[in-house]
Amino acid sequence: MLRDVNSVSDGAADLLVRDAKLLVTCDGDGRELPGGWVAITGGLINTHHHLYQNLTRSCGPAINGSLFSWLAVLYPLWARIDEEAAYLSAWVGLAELALGGCTTTTDHLYIAPRGGGDLWSAEIAAARELGVRFHPARGSLTVSEQDGGLAPDSVVQDDDEVLADSERLRLHTHLAEDPDEDKYCLERYGRRPVEQLEEVGWLTARSWVAHCIYPNEREVTRLGAAGTGVAHCPSSHMLIGGGGFAPVRELRAAGAPVGLVRDGALTAGGTEEKLRLHTAAAARVQGLAA
Ligand SMILES: [Zn+2]
Repeated sequence: MLRDVNSVSDGAADLLVRDAKLLVTCDGDGRELPGGWVAITGGLINTHHHLYQNLTRSCGPAINGSLFSWLAVLYPLWARIDEEAAYLSAWVGLAELALGGCTTTTDHLYIAPRGGGDLWSAEIAAARELGVRFHPARGSLTVSEQDGGLAPDSVVQDDDEVLADSERLRLHTHLAEDPDEDKYCLERYGRRPVEQLEEVGWLTARSWVAHCIYPNEREVTRLGAAGTGVAHCPSSHMLIGGGGFAPVRELRAAGAPVGLVRDGALTAGGTEEKLRLHTAAAARVQGLAA
Protein backbone atom coordinates (compact mmCIF):
# COMPACT_ATOMS: atom_id res chain seq x y z
CA MET A 1 0.00 0.00 0.00
CA LEU A 2 1.38 3.39 -0.94
CA ARG A 3 0.86 5.98 1.77
CA ASP A 4 1.93 9.61 2.19
CA VAL A 5 4.04 9.62 -0.90
CA ASN A 6 4.49 13.07 -2.40
CA SER A 7 5.59 12.18 -5.85
CA VAL A 8 6.86 9.08 -7.52
CA SER A 9 6.72 10.64 -10.93
CA ASP A 10 5.67 14.01 -12.32
CA GLY A 11 5.67 13.08 -15.96
CA ALA A 12 3.50 10.89 -18.07
CA ALA A 13 3.61 7.38 -16.69
CA ASP A 14 1.57 4.25 -16.22
CA LEU A 15 1.46 4.97 -12.52
CA LEU A 16 1.50 8.45 -11.04
CA VAL A 17 1.39 9.39 -7.35
CA ARG A 18 1.10 13.07 -6.47
CA ASP A 19 0.42 14.69 -3.09
CA ALA A 20 -0.41 11.36 -1.53
CA LYS A 21 -3.08 10.83 -4.12
CA LEU A 22 -2.81 8.03 -6.58
CA LEU A 23 -3.47 8.81 -10.19
CA VAL A 24 -3.24 6.26 -12.95
CA THR A 25 -2.53 7.33 -16.50
CA CYS A 26 -3.62 5.00 -19.23
CA ASP A 27 -1.49 6.46 -22.01
CA GLY A 28 1.70 8.41 -22.61
CA ASP A 29 -0.08 11.77 -22.72
CA GLY A 30 -0.44 12.10 -18.96
CA ARG A 31 -4.19 11.62 -19.11
CA GLU A 32 -5.26 10.90 -15.56
CA LEU A 33 -7.87 8.54 -14.26
CA PRO A 34 -9.03 8.67 -10.64
CA GLY A 35 -7.30 6.07 -8.50
CA GLY A 36 -8.20 6.84 -4.88
CA TRP A 37 -6.96 4.37 -2.28
CA VAL A 38 -5.89 1.20 -3.97
CA ALA A 39 -3.38 -1.48 -3.16
CA ILE A 40 -0.60 -1.71 -5.70
CA THR A 41 1.69 -4.70 -6.02
CA GLY A 42 4.19 -5.71 -8.63
CA GLY A 43 2.96 -8.31 -11.11
CA LEU A 44 3.77 -11.81 -9.88
CA ILE A 45 6.13 -13.98 -11.93
CA ASN A 46 5.46 -17.70 -12.27
CA THR A 47 8.51 -19.81 -13.10
CA HIS A 48 6.95 -23.21 -13.79
CA HIS A 49 3.63 -24.46 -15.11
CA HIS A 50 2.04 -27.13 -17.29
CA LEU A 51 -0.87 -25.36 -18.89
CA TYR A 52 -2.03 -28.44 -20.79
CA GLN A 53 -2.80 -30.15 -17.46
CA ASN A 54 -5.89 -27.96 -17.16
CA LEU A 55 -7.43 -30.55 -19.47
CA THR A 56 -7.21 -33.31 -16.86
CA ARG A 57 -7.64 -31.28 -13.67
CA SER A 58 -9.09 -33.16 -10.67
CA CYS A 59 -8.50 -36.59 -12.16
CA GLY A 60 -9.30 -38.78 -9.15
CA PRO A 61 -7.46 -41.98 -10.10
CA ALA A 62 -4.20 -40.06 -10.45
CA ILE A 63 -3.81 -38.35 -7.09
CA ASN A 64 -2.64 -39.55 -3.67
CA GLY A 65 0.03 -41.78 -5.15
CA SER A 66 3.69 -41.38 -5.95
CA LEU A 67 4.88 -39.14 -8.75
CA PHE A 68 5.55 -42.10 -11.01
CA SER A 69 2.10 -43.71 -10.45
CA TRP A 70 0.50 -40.30 -11.11
CA LEU A 71 2.31 -40.07 -14.43
CA ALA A 72 1.42 -43.62 -15.42
CA VAL A 73 -2.31 -42.83 -15.10
CA LEU A 74 -2.13 -39.56 -17.01
CA TYR A 75 0.25 -40.15 -19.92
CA PRO A 76 -2.33 -42.14 -21.94
CA LEU A 77 -4.77 -39.20 -21.61
CA TRP A 78 -2.16 -36.57 -22.47
CA ALA A 79 -1.16 -38.60 -25.56
CA ARG A 80 -4.40 -37.35 -27.20
CA ILE A 81 -3.61 -33.61 -26.96
CA ASP A 82 -3.73 -31.58 -30.19
CA GLU A 83 -3.36 -27.88 -31.11
CA GLU A 84 -6.92 -26.99 -30.15
CA ALA A 85 -6.49 -28.64 -26.74
CA ALA A 86 -3.17 -26.82 -26.18
CA TYR A 87 -4.73 -23.48 -27.14
CA LEU A 88 -7.79 -23.90 -24.89
CA SER A 89 -5.85 -25.15 -21.88
CA ALA A 90 -3.34 -22.31 -22.25
CA TRP A 91 -6.09 -19.71 -22.58
CA VAL A 92 -7.81 -20.92 -19.39
CA GLY A 93 -4.57 -21.29 -17.42
CA LEU A 94 -3.15 -17.93 -18.44
CA ALA A 95 -6.43 -16.13 -17.71
CA GLU A 96 -6.53 -17.74 -14.28
CA LEU A 97 -2.96 -16.63 -13.57
CA ALA A 98 -3.73 -13.07 -14.67
CA LEU A 99 -6.79 -12.93 -12.41
CA GLY A 100 -4.54 -13.97 -9.53
CA GLY A 101 -2.07 -11.12 -10.10
CA CYS A 102 0.46 -12.96 -12.26
CA THR A 103 1.63 -10.92 -15.24
CA THR A 104 4.60 -13.00 -16.43
CA THR A 105 4.81 -16.75 -16.72
CA THR A 106 6.63 -19.56 -18.37
CA ASP A 107 5.18 -22.89 -19.39
CA HIS A 108 6.80 -26.30 -19.43
CA LEU A 109 5.10 -28.17 -22.27
CA TYR A 110 6.89 -31.48 -22.75
CA ILE A 111 4.27 -33.64 -24.47
CA ALA A 112 4.47 -33.85 -28.27
CA PRO A 113 1.90 -36.41 -29.45
CA ARG A 114 2.66 -37.60 -32.96
CA GLY A 115 0.21 -35.93 -35.34
CA GLY A 116 -0.88 -33.43 -32.66
CA GLY A 117 0.55 -30.42 -34.49
CA ASP A 118 2.59 -27.48 -33.13
CA LEU A 119 1.38 -27.26 -29.54
CA TRP A 120 3.90 -24.52 -28.59
CA SER A 121 2.63 -22.14 -31.25
CA ALA A 122 -0.93 -22.86 -30.13
CA GLU A 123 -0.24 -21.78 -26.57
CA ILE A 124 1.77 -18.74 -27.71
CA ALA A 125 -1.31 -17.71 -29.71
CA ALA A 126 -3.42 -17.91 -26.53
CA ALA A 127 -0.89 -15.77 -24.60
CA ARG A 128 -0.87 -13.15 -27.38
CA GLU A 129 -4.63 -12.98 -27.34
CA LEU A 130 -4.72 -12.46 -23.56
CA GLY A 131 -1.72 -10.09 -23.39
CA VAL A 132 0.18 -12.08 -20.73
CA ARG A 133 4.00 -11.91 -20.81
CA PHE A 134 4.93 -15.43 -21.79
CA HIS A 135 8.26 -17.29 -21.91
CA PRO A 136 7.48 -20.89 -22.86
CA ALA A 137 10.13 -23.56 -22.47
CA ARG A 138 10.67 -26.31 -25.03
CA GLY A 139 10.21 -29.36 -22.85
CA SER A 140 10.58 -32.89 -24.12
CA LEU A 141 10.32 -36.59 -23.42
CA THR A 142 13.03 -38.75 -24.96
CA VAL A 143 12.60 -42.05 -23.09
CA SER A 144 9.46 -44.09 -23.77
CA GLU A 145 7.89 -47.07 -21.99
CA GLN A 146 9.66 -49.31 -24.43
CA ASP A 147 13.05 -47.99 -23.22
CA GLY A 148 12.25 -48.12 -19.52
CA GLY A 149 10.44 -44.78 -19.13
CA LEU A 150 6.78 -44.12 -18.30
CA ALA A 151 5.48 -42.29 -21.38
CA PRO A 152 3.87 -44.00 -24.40
CA ASP A 153 5.97 -44.12 -27.55
CA SER A 154 3.56 -41.77 -29.34
CA VAL A 155 4.57 -38.72 -27.22
CA VAL A 156 8.33 -39.26 -27.22
CA GLN A 157 10.74 -37.52 -29.59
CA ASP A 158 14.39 -38.07 -30.38
CA ASP A 159 17.15 -35.66 -29.30
CA ASP A 160 17.55 -34.06 -32.74
CA GLU A 161 13.85 -33.23 -33.04
CA VAL A 162 13.92 -31.52 -29.65
CA LEU A 163 17.18 -29.66 -30.13
CA ALA A 164 16.10 -28.37 -33.54
CA ASP A 165 13.28 -26.52 -31.80
CA SER A 166 15.09 -25.38 -28.64
CA GLU A 167 17.98 -23.13 -29.63
CA ARG A 168 16.15 -19.86 -29.03
CA LEU A 169 14.83 -20.90 -25.61
CA ARG A 170 16.36 -21.25 -22.17
CA LEU A 171 16.67 -24.74 -20.69
CA HIS A 172 14.13 -26.02 -18.23
CA THR A 173 13.34 -29.39 -16.67
CA HIS A 174 12.04 -31.10 -13.56
CA LEU A 175 14.80 -32.18 -11.22
CA ALA A 176 15.14 -34.02 -7.90
CA GLU A 177 11.37 -34.13 -7.38
CA ASP A 178 11.01 -37.53 -5.79
CA PRO A 179 13.22 -40.14 -4.08
CA ASP A 180 12.22 -42.52 -6.92
CA GLU A 181 14.13 -40.23 -9.27
CA ASP A 182 17.38 -40.71 -7.33
CA LYS A 183 16.91 -44.46 -7.61
CA TYR A 184 16.05 -44.29 -11.33
CA CYS A 185 19.04 -42.07 -12.20
CA LEU A 186 21.49 -44.17 -10.21
CA GLU A 187 20.25 -47.39 -11.83
CA ARG A 188 20.05 -46.01 -15.36
CA TYR A 189 22.97 -43.56 -15.49
CA GLY A 190 25.06 -44.39 -12.44
CA ARG A 191 24.64 -40.77 -11.30
CA ARG A 192 22.34 -38.76 -9.07
CA PRO A 193 19.93 -36.31 -10.78
CA VAL A 194 22.07 -33.17 -10.28
CA GLU A 195 25.14 -35.05 -11.51
CA GLN A 196 23.18 -36.12 -14.59
CA LEU A 197 22.12 -32.50 -15.18
CA GLU A 198 25.79 -31.53 -15.20
CA GLU A 199 26.72 -34.47 -17.41
CA VAL A 200 24.35 -33.31 -20.18
CA GLY A 201 25.59 -29.71 -19.96
CA TRP A 202 22.57 -28.22 -18.23
CA LEU A 203 24.24 -27.07 -14.98
CA THR A 204 24.46 -23.47 -16.20
CA ALA A 205 22.96 -20.04 -15.60
CA ARG A 206 20.88 -20.57 -18.78
CA SER A 207 18.96 -23.33 -17.02
CA TRP A 208 16.35 -23.42 -14.33
CA VAL A 209 14.87 -26.50 -12.72
CA ALA A 210 11.52 -27.20 -11.12
CA HIS A 211 11.02 -28.78 -7.67
CA CYS A 212 14.62 -29.55 -6.62
CA ILE A 213 13.55 -31.08 -3.31
CA TYR A 214 16.27 -33.66 -2.83
CA PRO A 215 19.68 -32.19 -3.72
CA ASN A 216 22.28 -33.04 -1.08
CA GLU A 217 24.48 -30.36 0.50
CA ARG A 218 27.20 -30.67 -2.11
CA GLU A 219 24.66 -30.48 -4.94
CA VAL A 220 23.09 -27.34 -3.47
CA THR A 221 26.53 -25.72 -3.58
CA ARG A 222 27.03 -26.80 -7.20
CA LEU A 223 23.62 -25.50 -8.31
CA GLY A 224 24.32 -22.17 -6.60
CA ALA A 225 27.82 -21.83 -8.03
CA ALA A 226 26.49 -22.46 -11.54
CA GLY A 227 23.69 -19.91 -11.08
CA THR A 228 21.08 -22.51 -12.04
CA GLY A 229 17.62 -21.26 -11.07
CA VAL A 230 15.11 -23.21 -8.98
CA ALA A 231 11.32 -23.08 -9.28
CA HIS A 232 9.88 -23.82 -5.82
CA CYS A 233 6.53 -25.69 -6.01
CA PRO A 234 5.07 -25.89 -2.46
CA SER A 235 1.47 -26.77 -3.43
CA SER A 236 2.54 -29.57 -5.75
CA HIS A 237 4.76 -31.05 -3.07
CA MET A 238 1.79 -31.39 -0.72
CA LEU A 239 -0.09 -33.63 -3.20
CA ILE A 240 2.51 -35.79 -4.85
CA GLY A 241 6.18 -36.57 -4.48
CA GLY A 242 8.02 -37.71 -1.41
CA GLY A 243 6.48 -35.12 0.92
CA GLY A 244 9.54 -32.88 1.16
CA PHE A 245 10.14 -29.22 0.32
CA ALA A 246 12.96 -27.62 -1.60
CA PRO A 247 15.79 -26.33 0.65
CA VAL A 248 15.02 -22.76 -0.40
CA ARG A 249 17.16 -20.97 2.19
CA GLU A 250 20.22 -23.11 1.44
CA LEU A 251 19.79 -22.76 -2.32
CA ARG A 252 19.53 -18.98 -2.09
CA ALA A 253 22.52 -18.78 0.25
CA ALA A 254 24.51 -20.82 -2.29
CA GLY A 255 23.62 -18.32 -5.03
CA ALA A 256 20.78 -20.05 -6.85
CA PRO A 257 17.91 -17.71 -7.85
CA VAL A 258 14.64 -19.16 -6.51
CA GLY A 259 11.14 -18.37 -7.83
CA LEU A 260 7.69 -19.34 -6.61
CA VAL A 261 5.58 -21.56 -8.79
CA ARG A 262 1.99 -22.24 -9.75
CA ASP A 263 2.76 -25.64 -11.32
CA GLY A 264 0.27 -27.68 -13.31
CA ALA A 265 -3.43 -27.62 -12.48
CA LEU A 266 -3.39 -31.29 -11.52
CA THR A 267 -0.96 -30.81 -8.68
CA ALA A 268 -1.86 -27.30 -7.66
CA GLY A 269 -5.66 -27.25 -7.93
CA GLY A 270 -7.51 -24.28 -9.32
CA THR A 271 -6.56 -21.69 -6.76
CA GLU A 272 -4.90 -18.41 -7.44
CA GLU A 273 -1.32 -17.28 -7.27
CA LYS A 274 -1.62 -15.41 -3.97
CA LEU A 275 -2.59 -18.68 -2.28
CA ARG A 276 0.71 -20.08 -3.48
CA LEU A 277 2.46 -17.34 -1.50
CA HIS A 278 0.45 -18.30 1.60
CA THR A 279 1.33 -21.96 1.10
CA ALA A 280 5.02 -21.17 0.83
CA ALA A 281 4.83 -18.92 3.89
CA ALA A 282 2.90 -21.51 5.92
CA ALA A 283 5.42 -24.20 5.02
CA ARG A 284 8.17 -21.90 6.20
CA VAL A 285 6.47 -21.11 9.53
CA GLN A 286 5.92 -24.81 10.18
CA GLY A 287 9.56 -25.52 9.53
CA LEU A 288 8.78 -27.51 6.41
CA ALA A 289 10.74 -25.23 4.13
CA ALA A 290 13.15 -22.34 4.31
ZN1 LIG B 1 6.07 -29.60 -13.24
